[in-house]
Amino acid sequence: MILISSPRFQEHTTPPGHPERPERAEAFDEIAEDWRDKGGRVIEPRPATREELLRVHDAEHVDAIAATNGRAAMLDPDTFTSPESYDIALLAAGAAVQAAEHALDTGETALALVRPPGHHAERDKPMGFCLFNNVAVAAAAAIARGLSRVAIVDIDVHHGNGTQWMFYKDQRVLYVSTHQFPFYPGTGAAGEIGVGEGAGYTFNLPLPAGATDADYASAYARVGQRLDGYRPQLLLVSAGYDAHEDDPLASMRVTTEGYTAIIRSLKDAAARNRCPIAVVTEGGYDLSALRDCLRATIDAI
Ligand SMILES: [Zn+2]
Repeated sequence: MILISSPRFQEHTTPPGHPERPERAEAFDEIAEDWRDKGGRVIEPRPATREELLRVHDAEHVDAIAATNGRAAMLDPDTFTSPESYDIALLAAGAAVQAAEHALDTGETALALVRPPGHHAERDKPMGFCLFNNVAVAAAAAIARGLSRVAIVDIDVHHGNGTQWMFYKDQRVLYVSTHQFPFYPGTGAAGEIGVGEGAGYTFNLPLPAGATDADYASAYARVGQRLDGYRPQLLLVSAGYDAHEDDPLASMRVTTEGYTAIIRSLKDAAARNRCPIAVVTEGGYDLSALRDCLRATIDAI
């Protein structure tokens, strides 16, 4: 396993009191430091290229984010930039691509510790703390290499609307999400299954507020079956840890052990399908739960 991490992820700053804060990157740095101390490999992220971004985003969107370079801007009531945010968002998307490439090239799992998160960012707009859709950029990079079955499993407590819509008509990407529902951002009903060639390649498992480790275990048994039916060539995990019982934004009751079980079930599904894994961070706003769940993720893999 390798980690992709950089202290530069602290440079994207948000207004005081914002949950998606630079201290989250300090937690990433601690995890990377521990990994190095154990003799593990940590690589520096590189920026995503314009070509990589344009596979999933409109040129107007990429240009609009680029135009925030050097300044602080409010893009929507939840989503902000600071002077460095454009550069850091490029690094987050680039790190996700590197994770996918490393997993495909070596078969070894890669974990990209990035912020800002990505799964709410849509083709034509930033949303919900997200500027570029990191995991979608990685999936599109894998498709560009010739893969025809890429699975994205989104374990964040919020539905990944951006990722879903980007691949809604595309059977080359299976999008699977467990999320609190109804909840922000409002999408992710079980009836949203994809359209056209993509029909059946979006799999939403909405869960009511208060869902426990046992509820998640049943959901991930179903996720495993769907992955076996799809036989992915690459498994990307949108790793949000905000379903944790200590998270301040959501109302789920998943424990750190519950997250371990989720990651283990995904690892087992990948092993059954001889499929490499790349993990890309999303949300997770209680810093000690975030640290614990990242350690649990590394241990489980
Ligand atoms: Zn989230």
